[in-house]
Amino acid sequence: MKAAPQAQRRLLDLQAVDTALAQLAHRRKNLPELAEIEAVAREISALEDERVRAQVAVDDLDRDIARFEKDIDQVRQRKAKDQQRLDAGGSLKEVEGLQHELATLNRRQSELEDAELELMEQRDSAAAVLAGVQGRLGAALDRRTDAERRRDETSTEIAKEQEFKSASRGPLAADLPADLVTLYDKIRTETGMGAALVYAGRCGACRIELYGADLNRVKAAPSDDVVRCEECRRIMVRTSESGL
Ligand SMILES: [Zn+2]
Repeated sequence: MKAAPQAQRRLLDLQAVDTALAQLAHRRKNLPELAEIEAVAREISALEDERVRAQVAVDDLDRDIARFEKDIDQVRQRKAKDQQRLDAGGSLKEVEGLQHELATLNRRQSELEDAELELMEQRDSAAAVLAGVQGRLGAALDRRTDAERRRDETSTEIAKEQEFKSASRGPLAADLPADLVTLYDKIRTETGMGAALVYAGRCGACRIELYGADLNRVKAAPSDDVVRCEECRRIMVRTSESGL
């Protein structure tokens, strides 16, 4: 393929733009915020499980406490009934029986109230655990929102740079011979780089030093020949800095 040396040199400008675009795309795909968001998402998921468990513990204790309340209430009603019958009077045997039952009911009520109090203390601890988990969950959610905001800001910034670079690429490519750009794009798509400057006798892409027959081939090639590297197949652009 033939292309004017000037056109070949401008190919390097196009390559510079494409390299910048590739770097921007890579940066956008590897933002530190993305790893941060992923890590905090795992944390949130674990905290949500923990919150569910803590809520279940509180709910279980509430249910147990309600059951005790009901039992205590039954004892109170029974006691009131016994007291009414006692107030109404009766035989000595009946009075003794009721007094005995009231004493038993008082003991039962006291036992139930002690047990309920213990559950209430447990509930306070469980509620404190729940509040702690909710606090940590809230903080993790805030951190996620913050990381997402930073990710969006940086992405928008990079997108603007990408747009700017892309806009400059069009005129650059349009100014070059179509077949040269087609070849360049084909190599670039395959290898990530289409053209490189030959610098100090080396291919600027793969850095291999030209020698022997290969060096002679490049040296002997007319300046409007599009020369490619034997090693990496990139277009080798020759200038006065090429050391040939
Ligand atoms: Zn090379």
